[in-house]
Amino acid sequence: MRHSRIILRSGREKPVRNRHPWVFSGAIDRIEGAPQPGDIVDIAAEDGKFLARGYWNPHSQIQARILSWHDEAIDDEWWLRMLRRAIEARGPGPNEARACRLVNAESDFLPGLVVDRYGDWLVLQALTLGIDQRKAQIAAALASLLPSRGIYERSDVDVRQKEGLRPVSGLISGEDPPRLIAINEDGITLLVDIRHGHKTGLYLDQRQNRGLLADLIKAGTSCDAPRVLNLFSYTGGFGLHALAAGAGSVTHADASREALTLAEQATASNDLPADRSEFVHADVFQLVRHYAQQGEQFDIIICDPPKFAHSAGQIDRATRGYRDLNLHCFRLLRPGGLLLTFSCSGAIDADLFQKVVFGALIDSMPAGAGRDAQILCRLGPASDHPTALTFPEGHYLKGLLLRVY
Ligand code: SAH
Repeated sequence: MRHSRIILRSGREKPVRNRHPWVFSGAIDRIEGAPQPGDIVDIAAEDGKFLARGYWNPHSQIQARILSWHDEAIDDEWWLRMLRRAIEARGPGPNEARACRLVNAESDFLPGLVVDRYGDWLVLQALTLGIDQRKAQIAAALASLLPSRGIYERSDVDVRQKEGLRPVSGLISGEDPPRLIAINEDGITLLVDIRHGHKTGLYLDQRQNRGLLADLIKAGTSCDAPRVLNLFSYTGGFGLHALAAGAGSVTHADASREALTLAEQATASNDLPADRSEFVHADVFQLVRHYAQQGEQFDIIICDPPKFAHSAGQIDRATRGYRDLNLHCFRLLRPGGLLLTFSCSGAIDADLFQKVVFGALIDSMPAGAGRDAQILCRLGPASDHPTALTFPEGHYLKGLLLRVY
């Protein structure tokens, strides 16, 4: 089948040759043929030589996203093969109530598509027009590859606006999911509301960091039965792992009442002691100030805020937010304590984040009374959230495990 062609401007083919999956409108010289938005198109160099094949959306800055660098058909068999490869890379999984990411968009070479598994249900997110148009086909392929009770769509994300799409969510196929799904994350039950939860229901990208926190506590890395502060707790993930691993107490703090209610319910589901858990509905920026005034001290603090920088233009404001939070975390940590601090802003890279945290340390104490901190480990997303080497933009989650004296 002959496709319409996007002819790149002279000298603009290098990123495509380097297997970057995005073709920006500024790189395009002309379009040959009459493609419809969402259609498969060929991407060609100025001299007409075939470079790649992808889907097209004239309403987006990213006019084409590349699906293949080969002259091959993007048909049912192709989708099946690519989805199978991504799913098989996650392994068979330890148990039925498993939760993991199965398809991580550009970084799994399927631009615009996210698929997460929560036990017997799959959740699909279509971030682009090209995927949105093909979601029935993709869902059918998923259903043939992986037994599930239902496939639910959570395409209610802001980035779709850039593609000219409205938010959509609802059942695609199979049975409606129950109000809550109990999943098993390394032995801990977490409660997931697929319909209304953040993202597709859970921050799956933090799975291995929650496991790391449990290991640190079991190993007594900070102290025996540490007092843990779980800032931006969402449905409790880090804190539930901490308590099960032997924390003396956990304070969960979040601005979402619904999330805290699930954290409280999950505490009971895991038979963890309610009297050693606290659920604080608050703005964390105010709460950390209040705790500092009260002279509260913690042995371990997790600081996992939402995305502060949505674009390069927001970097300054975002770094002020990270500085402020981390400065207060340093003040609230007992000497010898641990800080797990994160940024999920793609616009802020790991180097800049480390500099901001360094600045927060220096500013956290009055002159002459500085504190020391060490990086024990640099943190990133779980391995089911890979970053394609050709797509470094995909690496949004970064963190530091610090010991603070
Ligand atoms: N650590 C969590 C994920 C945190 S996501 C986990 O492992 O599951 C960020 C959370 O911050 C969300 O739950 C959101 O409700 C909360 N949040 C956003 N702004 C906030 C604020 N100013 N104060 C308190 N919580 C906030």
